[in-house]
Amino acid sequence: METSCSFLSCDHDDDERSWTMEDYAGAIPRWCPGCGDHAILAAVERLLETEQLPPERTVFVSGIGCSSRFPHYLTTYGFHGIHGRALPIATGVKLRRPDLHVFAVMGDGDCCSIGAGHWIHAVRYNVDMVALMLDNGIYGLTKNQTSPTTPQGHPSNTQPKGSHLMPLNPLSATLGVSNASFVAQTADWMPAHVYATIAAAFRHRGFSFVRILQRCPQYTDDLFQEAVRNPNLVEMLVHPDGVDAPELEKIFKNRRVHDPKDLDMGRHLAEPFDRIRLGIFFRDESRQRYEELRHQRIHTAQERIDRLNEEFEKYAV
Ligand code: SF4
Repeated sequence: METSCSFLSCDHDDDERSWTMEDYAGAIPRWCPGCGDHAILAAVERLLETEQLPPERTVFVSGIGCSSRFPHYLTTYGFHGIHGRALPIATGVKLRRPDLHVFAVMGDGDCCSIGAGHWIHAVRYNVDMVALMLDNGIYGLTKNQTSPTTPQGHPSNTQPKGSHLMPLNPLSATLGVSNASFVAQTADWMPAHVYATIAAAFRHRGFSFVRILQRCPQYTDDLFQEAVRNPNLVEMLVHPDGVDAPELEKIFKNRRVHDPKDLDMGRHLAEPFDRIRLGIFFRDESRQRYEELRHQRIHTAQERIDRLNEEFEKYAV
C-alpha cells in the first residue's frame, strides 16, 4: 500500500490512493476452522476494496461474541464494545462524524437479547449505517448457551433438554419497527450473495439491517446443514431493485420475484417457511433519518440564535 499523505491531514476528496483486500486485513482471525465468520469477513473486505473506502474513514463497531472480534481483523478504525451495545456506540460515531462509513457487527445473542432495546430504536432512528447480525443461533463465545434465535428443542449448556421457546424472528421483528428502511437476509455459504447483499446495504441511505445466517460447526452444526447441501431448500428473492448475484442463478432454482418496496409482502415473506428465503425483504430510502431531522433542528435553532443576536445588536447601540 502506498500513501502520499498522513491519515489525519489528507484531503480525501481528491484521494489518489488505492487499496487492495490485503490492505484491509488486520490480525489473523482466530475463529474456529469452518466457522462462517471467515466467509463474511472476506465479503466485507471485498466490499471495502470495491468501494475503495479509506481505512481511516471507516469504522467497525462490535459488541461481544465470536462475531464481535471483527474490528480486530480489519485495519479500519474499530471499537470492540460491550455486550449488546454496538448500536448506540455506532450511532454516536455516525452522528458526531457523518463523513465516516459506519458498520456495526453483532451476534444473535448480542443484538436480540441484551441489545434488543438498542436494536429497536436504532431501526426507528434510521441513522445511516450498515448493521450486520451474524446469526448462528447460539452464544458461541461463552460456550453453547441458548440465544433468542436458538431453534426450539435445540439442546445447549443452559437448556440441556432443548430450548423451551420458539425462536425470535429477527426479520419480522425489524420489519415491525416503525421507520424500518432496509431489511435483508443472506447466508455465509454463498459468498457472492453475502457480498451483493452487504453492497446493497452499504449503498442504502439509512439503517440497513442484514441478518447473515452463519454456520457454527462447534455448537450448531446441524442448523443449516440441510440447506447447505440442498439448494432446493433455499428461495431467492429477486427483483431489479434487489440483490444481484447472477452467478447463483444456475444453482438456486427457487426464485421468487419480490419488489422490496412492498412492506406487507416483505413481512409476509419473513414469516417461517419450509425454505430459507434470501434477499431484500424491504427497502425504502424515503424514510426519515434522524441525522437529517437533527441537522434541521440544529440549523433552525442556530437561525433563531442569529436572529436574536441581530436584534440585540440593533438595540444595544
Ligand atoms: S464457536 Fe462457533 S461462532 Fe464461535 S468461532 Fe467457533 S465456529 Fe465460529
